[in-house]
Amino acid sequence: MKCSHRPCPLCGGERVMPLADLEFGDFDASTFDHRVVLVACRLCGQAFNDVSLNQEALEQYYRDEALYAAEMGVGSGGTSPGDQKRYAGAAEVLTPFLPSKDAAIVDVGCAKGGFLAFLRKLGFTNLAGVDLNQDCVTFVQNTLEIPANVGTVHQLPYDDCTTTVLVYSHVLEHVDNLRAALREAWRILQDDGLLLVEVPDASRYADYPVFDFYWLSQKEHINHFDAIHLTWLAQAAGFHPLQVGPMLMEMAPGVENPLIYGVFQKRPRPEAAPGPHFDPGLYQELQSYVQAEARRLAPRRRLLAELAASGRPAYAWGIGLEFFCLYVQAGLKNCNLRYLVDKNPAKQKQTVDGTQIHSPECFAEAPTESTAILTSAMHGQAMASYLRDIDFQGEVLALA
Ligand SMILES: [Zn+2]
Repeated sequence: MKCSHRPCPLCGGERVMPLADLEFGDFDASTFDHRVVLVACRLCGQAFNDVSLNQEALEQYYRDEALYAAEMGVGSGGTSPGDQKRYAGAAEVLTPFLPSKDAAIVDVGCAKGGFLAFLRKLGFTNLAGVDLNQDCVTFVQNTLEIPANVGTVHQLPYDDCTTTVLVYSHVLEHVDNLRAALREAWRILQDDGLLLVEVPDASRYADYPVFDFYWLSQKEHINHFDAIHLTWLAQAAGFHPLQVGPMLMEMAPGVENPLIYGVFQKRPRPEAAPGPHFDPGLYQELQSYVQAEARRLAPRRRLLAELAASGRPAYAWGIGLEFFCLYVQAGLKNCNLRYLVDKNPAKQKQTVDGTQIHSPECFAEAPTESTAILTSAMHGQAMASYLRDIDFQGEVLALA
């Protein structure tokens, strides 16, 4: 089959093998399509979403709409204990490669600058951040007092050959044109400069199934890497792999995300990089992942079908990835959804199919015959204890 919207971001190939075509719910204002079409390139085996959004639309989304500027969870670039652990892991990998404490290090997609602040604590003095989001840049400049600029992976605000180290932590899985992004990295790096990359490890999604289709319901992740394809991508852009390997990121106690990190070094062009050839590993791993998730979803689909048939008023709490997967894939939208609930004030400004999202205070008014559906893999226990504390009399259905 031919890809409809997007050629392979690694080799440019247009023939693909289908892996999944799934519909997920979303906020009404979301830029993203409700459908996720996962494919693998026939030429090289790289996996990616055949999204119709172009780079401009994606950049506008991260500039204006992305919730991460307001989020506090692990991975939003903040300073939570989980983030600190993640930074420590990345710093442990990176620091042995760094020439000196005054090496010029730029974190591309720095969000709220958590990793930069961590590096400063380790004694690094020449730090800077780049982000698409002005609020993030202002925060890094004013609160952390670290230089920061608005910029994109395709237009970094630096002159040629001026940077020693570029950090792309959880960035490349979001980028439409990967080859152009790495060409830009190559442009601003000094000779022998380093590229530190961290991305989710798609070859291990099946080993870390946080929740049903968790890894595919993150529509912002439009590229799915394994170590082989990440290495080929870097080589094709003129980088030599120094170290590539697996890592884990703790999202909450007992919930870990599999990552790949890579340290690559700029080499003068033209590099005789081997052109990518086909490697089937990633395709095969993702194929079993998709099948396993479909099996895991079946019992939840049965529970929700019973609830929908009963007509009981339902309160769905936790309007995130888990909710949006259950909403369509498990038929949650067919239940008598009286309220959608989330603690995050940014989400309370959003709607889903026209329904407003409320704060958990609405449980105080819940009728006795109602059902609270808890749809958060990370916060399920805290939600259940909140409901006990307010003496919620209805039924509690923990689905995550
Ligand atoms: Zn390809």
